[in-house]
Amino acid sequence: MAVRTGQQFLEGLNDGREVWYDGQWVPNVAEFAPFKAAVKSTAKLYDLQHDPRFREVLTVESPAIGERIARPYEIPRTRDHLRLKREAYVIWAEATCGMMGRSPDFLNVMMAALAAKKSFFAECAPARAEAVVSYYQHIAKHDLFLTHALLDPQLDKGKARHQQSDPSIPLRVIDRTKDGLIVHGIKRIATAAPYADEILVWPFPPTFQAGEEAYANVFAVPMNTKGLKTLCRPSFAAVDGSRADHPLSSQFDEIDATVVFDHVLVPWDRVFLHEDIRFLNRMYRDSRMRELTAHQTNARLEVKLGFLYALILRMTEAIGSTQKSDMMEMLGEAVACVEVIRSTTRSAEEQATVDPENGVMYPDLFALQAGRALGPVYYPKLLDMLKRVGGGGLIQLPVSLSEFNSPIGAELERSLRGADISGRDKAQLFKLAWDVCGSEFGARHALYEMNYAGERGALLAGIHREYGRKQHYVQYLDKFLESL
Ligand SMILES: Cc1cc2nc3c(=O)[nH]c(=O)nc-3n(C[C@H](O)[C@H](O)[C@H](O)COP(=O)(O)OP(=O)(O)OC[C@H]3O[C@@H](n4cnc5c(N)ncnc54)[C@H](O)[C@@H]3O)c2cc1C
Repeated sequence: MAVRTGQQFLEGLNDGREVWYDGQWVPNVAEFAPFKAAVKSTAKLYDLQHDPRFREVLTVESPAIGERIARPYEIPRTRDHLRLKREAYVIWAEATCGMMGRSPDFLNVMMAALAAKKSFFAECAPARAEAVVSYYQHIAKHDLFLTHALLDPQLDKGKARHQQSDPSIPLRVIDRTKDGLIVHGIKRIATAAPYADEILVWPFPPTFQAGEEAYANVFAVPMNTKGLKTLCRPSFAAVDGSRADHPLSSQFDEIDATVVFDHVLVPWDRVFLHEDIRFLNRMYRDSRMRELTAHQTNARLEVKLGFLYALILRMTEAIGSTQKSDMMEMLGEAVACVEVIRSTTRSAEEQATVDPENGVMYPDLFALQAGRALGPVYYPKLLDMLKRVGGGGLIQLPVSLSEFNSPIGAELERSLRGADISGRDKAQLFKLAWDVCGSEFGARHALYEMNYAGERGALLAGIHREYGRKQHYVQYLDKFLESL
């Protein structure tokens, strides 16, 4: 079962989990209209693993696990492993136009990273390292789909967790038994939680202070664990709309959720760190998870930006503006954005180094961090370009493309035709653009790209603090100054 099909993924979802939508307990998430499209798109990703065109890249024989596994689980030991991982991420991202940021590969590679750095967890306690490795083997063997929830509710940002007016709101340990930890409280934002198999919890940002020990925990549990409730945001999926009218929102709306843990038992073999602020504050950096997860997120972003660039180009062609000097400049800038993000993964692979502690080949962190820092700048820039190219044409569209077959079809055709394109085809293009930049789905994506790598100010400060080539450049400058 190590490489699942879409059908096997779907069958796993009907497991009694407690998912709430609009005040109702959802009985079967795979069949629930607001989730159905995202579930189906995720199932298709699993099916791609069995497609002869992609099988060799998307899956790999694993001596460590003892069978064939999905590529993201592979712990990379060569540059070739890294290249193949990136190619696998790109195949999945292309299946969703880069619109499903939390496809299973993201957390699968995160768990591979944690298992690869078992020494970090062993420093804390040998049992914690054993738990991480055996959990990684479990999800790799069963090809499971994880969601994750890092953040506490947005309470009072000026206060530590234990100093909030109600310190029981953020998720914390309330008891320890011979079977495991009892955790209680709330975490957010778990994208894809309603239809993921399991949830990985660890707290972010890693700035824990004395007194916050009860909140400093890393663990994983199945989504149908007793006491675990998933509370969903409104779906932005175009439930009643056709794929032509809502090309992206009818297929790729990942649901974001808050997760409530009501006296949940986390068995000891699923506890990776607990009540330890010192290790928790080190984990994000010292587990080296960022190197492997940012490799996936930048590959996904390259696909999404490339998709937007092509859309901008096709729109300029549709309205005959491609040769206008400001449009040519804009298209060049869009290309530059795509290429910078594309280069981050390749540059990170080229500059990858083996960690002598575990023999793992890590892509270069600083090359990847450039992509995480610039994504939130480039994505809104490309959205802005879409709006500039489309102008009012983005809003003057028929309710449905089927109207072209109605008695007003001829008038629509005449009113919507473009430079060298029929009214119908131009309306299709512009409806796609509206889904990207004007729909609720599009607004969620703008927020996602701004936030998915964490709050940007903290990200940038961390990039500078940790910059490994700082001394190289500073010494170069100092030598030059000395020579004057
Ligand atoms: C669409 C979407 C999907 C996401 N999916 C996931 C997911 O799958 N899993 C997951 O774990 N997370 C997910 N996230 C969460 C994401 O990582 C966070 O949104 C991001 O880290 C920012 O945190 P925040 O939302 O708490 O915003 P905040 O950190 O609350 O930021 C809001 C504002 O508060 C300010 N601020 C922050 N800290 C302080 C302070 N101490 N004092 C004063 N001001 C402060 C910030 O500068 C900012 O202006 C998702 C987010 C989005 C938008």
